Amino acid sequence: MIAIVTFKKADNEFFAELKGRLERVFQSEDFSDSVLSLSLPLAAFNEERKQCNSPKILRGMLDNSALENYDKVLGIVDEDLYAANLNFVFGQAESIGGRVCLVSSRRLYQSFYNLPENAALFLMRLSKEAAHEIGHLLGMTHCHNKSCVMTYSESIREVDFKRGQFCSVCKEKIKERC
Ligand SMILES: [Zn+2]
Ligand SMILES: [Zn+2]
Repeated sequence: MIAIVTFKKADNEFFAELKGRLERVFQSEDFSDSVLSLSLPLAAFNEERKQCNSPKILRGMLDNSALENYDKVLGIVDEDLYAANLNFVFGQAESIGGRVCLVSSRRLYQSFYNLPENAALFLMRLSKEAAHEIGHLLGMTHCHNKSCVMTYSESIREVDFKRGQFCSVCKEKIKERC
């Protein structure tokens, strides 16, 4: 069972929509019905950068006893994330084949780029990044096909360019793992 976790008050309608999309991408109904609400570990926030340290949040998720019965956990944070020497990351998986992953919604909003908000576009971006990180948890590595959801995206332009689905090569691989 894959749990979806949020670090603010959960919007159930929104998460039902996200869950439906992920189930279609993975052709699996192995996602938990309700979204869990957790609090962010304070130590993850870097005051100077005004960003959260992604590995620290992932560590907190791994240590959280409320999540230990789930095979995989997807966390969604509003805060901007950074990791290692990267200025920011859209998301991060603990490791290939790991148990927990994280996606930040911050840079997926049109308003981040000073553009009018677009709810449908936001949901599409979030489901792409969520599918990408869950893909890593299921053992998938990056794909060279720029329109595949497993391609590495460095900018929102690249997120928008790729499709929300696995390419035919990745689809074959993921089938064996779901
Ligand atoms: Zn990746
Ligand atoms: Zn692919």
